[in-house]
Amino acid sequence: MRAIRRFTVRPVLPDALAPLADLALNLRWCWHPETQELFNGVDPDLWASSGGDPIRLLSEVSADRLQRLAKDRKFVKNLQLINADLADYMSADQWYQEYASGNASAPKGIGYFSSEFGITAVLPQYSGGLGILAGDHLKSASDLGVPIIGVGLLYRQGYFKQSLNGAGWQQERYPLIDPNSLPLSLLHEDTDEGAVPVRIEVPLAGRTLHAQVWLAQVGRVPLLLLDSDVEQNQGAEREVTDRLYGGGVDHRLAQELLLGVGGVRAIREYCRITGHPEPEVFHMNEGHAGFLGLERIREYMEDGADFDTALEHTRAGTVFTTHTPVPAGIDRFDKHLVFDHFNGFGALPIDRVLQLGAEDYEGGDPEKFNMAVMGFRLGQRANGVSQLHGEVSREMFHGLWKSFDTGEVPITSITNGVHHQTWVHPELLELLESPRGNTDTVIDGYDWAGLKRVDPATIWALKRRMRTDLIAMTRARLTESCHNRGISADWVGGVLSPDVITFGFARRVPSYKRLTLMLRDPARLKKLLTDPDRPIQIVIAGKSHPADEGGKALIQQMVQFADAEDVRHRIVFLPDYDIGMARPLYPGCDVWMNNPLRPYEACGTSGMKAALNGAANLSIRDGWWDEWYEPAFGWAIPSAEGIEDPEQRDDIEARALYDIIEDEIVERFYDVDANGLPQRWIQMMADTVAGLGPKVLASRMVRDYVTNLYAPAAASSQLVSDRPDSAKELAAWKARVRAAWPQVAVDHVESLTGDAVEVGTDIQVSALVRLGSLSPDDIEVQLVAGRVDAEDNLHETHSYPFPSGEDVDGSGLRRYEGVVAADRTGSIGYTVRVVPSHPDLASVAEMGLAALPSDLPQPPSA
Ligand SMILES: *Cc1c(COP(=O)(O)O)cnc(C)c1O
Repeated sequence: MRAIRRFTVRPVLPDALAPLADLALNLRWCWHPETQELFNGVDPDLWASSGGDPIRLLSEVSADRLQRLAKDRKFVKNLQLINADLADYMSADQWYQEYASGNASAPKGIGYFSSEFGITAVLPQYSGGLGILAGDHLKSASDLGVPIIGVGLLYRQGYFKQSLNGAGWQQERYPLIDPNSLPLSLLHEDTDEGAVPVRIEVPLAGRTLHAQVWLAQVGRVPLLLLDSDVEQNQGAEREVTDRLYGGGVDHRLAQELLLGVGGVRAIREYCRITGHPEPEVFHMNEGHAGFLGLERIREYMEDGADFDTALEHTRAGTVFTTHTPVPAGIDRFDKHLVFDHFNGFGALPIDRVLQLGAEDYEGGDPEKFNMAVMGFRLGQRANGVSQLHGEVSREMFHGLWKSFDTGEVPITSITNGVHHQTWVHPELLELLESPRGNTDTVIDGYDWAGLKRVDPATIWALKRRMRTDLIAMTRARLTESCHNRGISADWVGGVLSPDVITFGFARRVPSYKRLTLMLRDPARLKKLLTDPDRPIQIVIAGKSHPADEGGKALIQQMVQFADAEDVRHRIVFLPDYDIGMARPLYPGCDVWMNNPLRPYEACGTSGMKAALNGAANLSIRDGWWDEWYEPAFGWAIPSAEGIEDPEQRDDIEARALYDIIEDEIVERFYDVDANGLPQRWIQMMADTVAGLGPKVLASRMVRDYVTNLYAPAAASSQLVSDRPDSAKELAAWKARVRAAWPQVAVDHVESLTGDAVEVGTDIQVSALVRLGSLSPDDIEVQLVAGRVDAEDNLHETHSYPFPSGEDVDGSGLRRYEGVVAADRTGSIGYTVRVVPSHPDLASVAEMGLAALPSDLPQPPSA
């Protein structure tokens, strides 16, 4: 028999224990050990069997036990203390309040949209790095007091649970979640008729999609999750939020429409009901959220703006973050699908909508609608997620600004970070707690240089406990996996040792991450694993996308290698990588391995989590490791990027990997003093935490977003709100400049300096510029200087504005004269260009327009 309806009966808590329910509903518990300890005290066995899920704990604990706890004065006292601490956490002034008091443009609200959020293992609403990053962003924003509202979807099946069959082939299961039994509450409005759930409606190709909104309270940050599983929806609409990344293209488009358009509507409802300040900035975390911009254009048009004005206003307050350097990873739709869904959306002209996502550049596909391209056109500010990824993104999207040098493409970078209270082993964090709290190395209450003053024996004993915890988890999961696979588990008790150097490798399994690179020379790996004196051990985990057979084959290859009797005690593949596994995994590792094909790892965050736990990184210099690698923090595997043949490239990189492990890592780890302490290794642990700690923190990342992107976006947006005509003026100005641009030209350039100059000499340039119908205030004439290559192309350019110039003949021809010092030696070159100039532009390249002399070297257009 199937139940036609299900309920979760929540317990009635005795009055004295009532705050337990509030503590369970605020997800701050997932990074607050004292609150977890309190729940553990409710019923230690149930806490363990629930997997650390307070809602489940409270729904299963017996009424008897609750009555006894209500009379336990110590428990109740502690409960009150922790409840008061949460109340304080929710309202105290934090970093942002101080920042905002000195910065008038600090936004009062920020909407943060993401298709996944990884906050706790209890809410399986993520597949990998993107979601974990979004979760860490919200947690740090909460700690810093940043007024963010998160927006996502509630997937009834979340991401899949992974297991293996006997042959080592990945199996997928999609357990249904019941939102009522999760730390969520339904967004509702209290009316005279009682509590009325909020309903959101969005148009879906001629039909209406309805959604309810779940609220997950992430500390101070509300996270709104839209859910289409409501009675008003017919079959297919009801399933829109069934699965994370499930279904076909139509399905994904419907999800993204609900996330973007529905998400803005959900925020409006939330702010109306709760009085939370309306966001001044909207952040698209990856292209999936891009439709939020169309909804905001629609809102402005409803208030009377024309499309271009609405677009300018939307752009001013929008930030777009791109996350993938892999062109195949970009989210694209067939144009006709977008036409079907947005034809007749408010007053938006459909051709303008389609133009926003058009790949109208060299190499683009005219039939596609590109969500990243739309992100750049809807967001005046955009970034990649590490310095290297910023560079790669500027090249990848150069076609949108092809008159400019790649270095000028307006995509900046903010390197990702990780939330330390979620990812650092609690005992290690305790060692870093700062009694003094006033040195340079103290950030967010922890002294990241703190290990340097801790006795090496203490550090080493703690690391051994961290390894021991990992081993306990490994054995438990492996036992379960053996049962699932129908193979004997009698050998699992002897798997891994707390005294053997432990390597970790866990991540999703797309091919560029090269899960099996370590298997390139199986005999050599086996030798490392089984060395009688100085062996290594490796813990591996990762899910393959359900549709990726290639990825599943890699997993199978790994599992089959690890199944062999002579190595299985030293190398394990753990199924079902998730937050619950990840948290003990990073602290238990001594070395974190990462060998992607450079530069396809946009940032990577798992190595940061390992580093914060004192693990050394052994990685290709890709993503964040390219930026912050130092020998004191680990090892760089040389990348053989120039080698075209992928097999040969793998061979070279794998050989380097084995060499480093053999010659350097194993040697250092097992080099112990008379007390059995590997002093050089312990030194590296302390140096890693001290050197990388302050950099890899999510709080550093969130501060960077606030100061470099959110506040400037809010300032642009406020400017428009304060001068309601400014968006209209900017839109009209852009239209006028664009129309006049074909007449703008650099007619003649003359250098008043010879060809060979000494460094420091002034180079004097005079240029004749034709402005057509534009006025001198509409443009800026610049001297652009940089290094020149053999084809006369300019690189690493700097631009210098010319003074205002003078009229030559009364017909729009003007002479400009400028001087620039030759500030470096070697082959330098310059050109002169005209660019649009307006105080409301965020970058010189914003409009993509530049006029260059036709007979002089021009920047390359890739
Ligand atoms: C950190 C983390 C990731 C992301 O790791 P990358 O290094 O970015 O691949 C993925 N899944 C889980 C469970 C994580 O904790």
